[in-house]
Amino acid sequence: MTIEGKHAVVTGGGTGIGAAIAATLVDSGANVTIVGRTEDSLRNQNLPYVVCDVTDSKQVTSAFDVARREQGCIEIVVANAGAARSEPFARTDVDVLESMLAVNAVGVFNSWKAAFKDMQAANWGRMIAIASTAGLKGFPYVAAYCAAKHAVIGLTRSLALELAPTGVTVNSVCPGYTRTPLLSRTVENIRNKTGMSIDSAEKVLLETNPQERFIETAEVADAVKWLCSDAASSVNGQAICLSGGPI
Ligand code: NDP
Repeated sequence: MTIEGKHAVVTGGGTGIGAAIAATLVDSGANVTIVGRTEDSLRNQNLPYVVCDVTDSKQVTSAFDVARREQGCIEIVVANAGAARSEPFARTDVDVLESMLAVNAVGVFNSWKAAFKDMQAANWGRMIAIASTAGLKGFPYVAAYCAAKHAVIGLTRSLALELAPTGVTVNSVCPGYTRTPLLSRTVENIRNKTGMSIDSAEKVLLETNPQERFIETAEVADAVKWLCSDAASSVNGQAICLSGGPI
């Protein structure tokens, strides 16, 4: 397994999908550093961490420098940090679009960029983003989020081609609705805006998955683990859907 002994940085590793990915990579023998803005949630994972806002390239560069000093060259980056805002287009101001692009797209760019030299030197690397099915198709009321996640897929496909000769692969994982704090906030938002019960709001979201279930964080983590392995060496520039069916 190529993961053994590798240093992996997971952004947004203090909660939800990122916490599950960090735990799975640790179980596979990686040395993992997690990154996020909230120290309490990072500390709760009992892993080396650096506090950092991924939207700020200077913060990301210095956070990755700290991680590198503590655990060595970074050869796996899982750019998972993200956030979702939902509202009708009429109420979506440009600052919402800018904030969605900043955390979901620029954050991925900053995180991958900060580790690229290590991967280039090692002639091996794994750049992985947690995008979304919203990176591949449109959904109503989340135009800004969808635009940002589509940007991640464009970045993935272009970089994969550019870096193909270097031994670095670049891929995105695109989950459907997944059981995390972000999902709970989404359900609460629907309840507040429509007056639906929690069960009815969840049902609306479940209808987007042909299997009529939410994705589990462990499923996303296992997909990331596979992308890091030798078995996935030729998987490059892909947007891997975990969505219960074709989207
Ligand atoms: P969470 O809200 O649990 O996790 C998001 C993480 O990102 C948090 O740990 C948060 O920590 C971190 N984060 C947010 N903004 C920043 C920032 N500016 N700088 C650094 N860290 C930041 O949600 P999920 O686990 O669900 O989301 C993880 C990823 O999966 C996101 O990219 C999301 O878009 C994607 N996704 C989620 C789906 C779902 O249904 N849950 C479906 C498809 C994709 P902190 O706030 O402390 O910084």
